[in-house]
Amino acid sequence: MKRVYLDYAATTPIDPRVAKAMRDFELTYFGNPSSTHREGQDARAKIDFARSKVATFINAKPQEIIFTSGATEANNLAIQGVVNDAIYKNKINKPHVVTTLLEHQSVYNTVKELEKRGLIEATFVKPDKSGIIQTDQIIKAIKHNTVLVSVIFVSNEIGTVLPVREIGQALRILAPETCPLKPAFHIDAVQAAQFYNCNVEKLGCDLLTLSAHKLYGPKGIGAIYVKSGLKLANLAFGGSQESGLRPGTQNTSGIIGLAKAVELLGTLDERQKAGQKNSKLRDKLIQNILKIKNVELNGPIGESRVPNNASFTIYNVDQDALMTALDLLGIAASNGSACVSGSSEPSYVIEALEKTKKRQASTLRLTLGRDTIMSDIKQAITILNQIVNRLRK
Ligand code: PMP
Repeated sequence: MKRVYLDYAATTPIDPRVAKAMRDFELTYFGNPSSTHREGQDARAKIDFARSKVATFINAKPQEIIFTSGATEANNLAIQGVVNDAIYKNKINKPHVVTTLLEHQSVYNTVKELEKRGLIEATFVKPDKSGIIQTDQIIKAIKHNTVLVSVIFVSNEIGTVLPVREIGQALRILAPETCPLKPAFHIDAVQAAQFYNCNVEKLGCDLLTLSAHKLYGPKGIGAIYVKSGLKLANLAFGGSQESGLRPGTQNTSGIIGLAKAVELLGTLDERQKAGQKNSKLRDKLIQNILKIKNVELNGPIGESRVPNNASFTIYNVDQDALMTALDLLGIAASNGSACVSGSSEPSYVIEALEKTKKRQASTLRLTLGRDTIMSDIKQAITILNQIVNRLRK
């Protein structure tokens, strides 16, 4: 039986054209891009070209792109960079950070840890029961000492699309007496980049995170956009690579892979078309899975939901048994975020939706991608029906 991969939010398969571009580069351009000889400078030129491609994708300047080991590092650099700069350089005693309960762990746990260490105050804005957060909830959370607003563009767990553009606009027109420290605005666009416009000027953000392996690129490479003039404190110290913000010899072939992956996403129009294709399949999946008794959708419906995400709470079914049975019967799925998979406890994202706690409940996230076809969806529906019936007996 054909295996059905429905975990594109955890990672996407690498596009063979990306793999080829990386391999071709690796075999020819082995030089260290910081070396001054020709081998080094040839590699440097390729990296500069890749940087400009990534910059163009989000309408930034090449020097505003900092390559990192992935989105986790990028998010840490954004958050700790802004907070530490405020503490060390501007001598702010306890800066305040506004974020949400829909964030990926790389934002949530970073903010939690800084809060636990007593370095910051934090506000985690809560979604409503359908997983929606409104712009004014974010704006109302801002205080006189807020230095950072960090908001996920698309929830990796429940697929909510947050109103990041509206938040950016609202932040720009905030009265200086409300937020004298002019908070930096960070967007984690990891799950959004393949479908939505990530034009940083239109979004009005100062920092934006990307990761290649969610875009049919390689693992272990990401980027953070840092708006010109914004000051960040370093996470690590060393050489002057990546404008000194991210020292260490770059993952050169990874950078080539990220740029190729971004190029292959195509125009915004093409990305939206890919989204529509996924939406149709996803809607079929959602409609049919909701026919199973005692199953609820996690997250919103309609425009506020990313095209490739379907997330469910399935009552009276054991989480571990569900995940094992799906895998054994050929369906690659997730119980939420891959970064916490293995845990049978609901995540803080699911908890924020205040599902009833009275009954045993499992979370199932199915995420679609470029190669998903109708027969995959039908197979997943049939198998899930069988498993739920069996486990409930
Ligand atoms: N942010 C979001 C929204 C994500 O989905 C992920 C990956 N699950 C990350 C950040 C972390 O990305 P990486 O694996 O590149 O560190």
